[in-house]
Amino acid sequence: MIRAGEFAAHGVDARSVRRAVAAGRLLRIRSGHYADPDLPAPVRIALRHGGVLACVSVARSRGLWVLPLDQIVHVSLPPNGHSHPHDDCTCVQHWNALQFTSTEVSLVDSLLQIRGCHGEDAFFATLESALHEGMLSADGRSELRERITESARWLVDLARTDSESGLESLLRVRLYRLGISLHTQVEVPGVGRVDFVLGDRLILEVDGRPGHEGIESRHKDLMRDAVAASHGFDTLRFDYDMVVMDWPIVEEAILAKVARGLHLDPWAERLRSA
Ligand SMILES: [Zn+2]
Ligand SMILES: [Zn+2]
Repeated sequence: MIRAGEFAAHGVDARSVRRAVAAGRLLRIRSGHYADPDLPAPVRIALRHGGVLACVSVARSRGLWVLPLDQIVHVSLPPNGHSHPHDDCTCVQHWNALQFTSTEVSLVDSLLQIRGCHGEDAFFATLESALHEGMLSADGRSELRERITESARWLVDLARTDSESGLESLLRVRLYRLGISLHTQVEVPGVGRVDFVLGDRLILEVDGRPGHEGIESRHKDLMRDAVAASHGFDTLRFDYDMVVMDWPIVEEAILAKVARGLHLDPWAERLRSA
């Protein structure tokens, strides 16, 4: 961001500034504050508040997986920031005293904000997305572990670098709370790689990836399920809406299979107890 005083210091008079704004070469953020017109809209909004981009908006701007899917801008404000300075402001405002020099808070700060703003599961999913994309260094992870509230530290320890979608992360953390651990990205004979295997033979697939719609992929899924069944596997298949919006149904479906022991192979069981 450029302040009016800096133009004056460089010998640029107020009229030239006004002309540049009128020509679209300069963006007026608010009184006496200007910026590059190419700034992304969420960043502009944050600056208009006298703050910077924060929380889920930082994760979103970096292409990380974020829950929820809305486009509401989250801003971090210093004590002298402006609440709702623009028309129809629907921003979520974080009034924490963070140090920031750029147009957004650090990734670690944004992750900490996400936990406070959207809860543990959303935090975990974005954290695993950042680890998968290689955006959070080992040092960043240690800093996060150090700064996060103690009751949430286990989430940082549980996070892996190989989670391929936010839905997988959500499923894993939620089942972990129920005492169920999963094998991820398992090779099943004749089928190929599946998202999760619970116990010996219960396949869980979460369809939330681009290209997972349409008749062709439905046919592929049905074929996979049939081949898996012929190898003694059972498949439960969930999609984005189910995992995000109807979690209790997903949980009940999995728990019912587990309660009847359908995830265990009796032959493997016999070998284990021998
Ligand atoms: Zn937030
Ligand atoms: Zn706003």
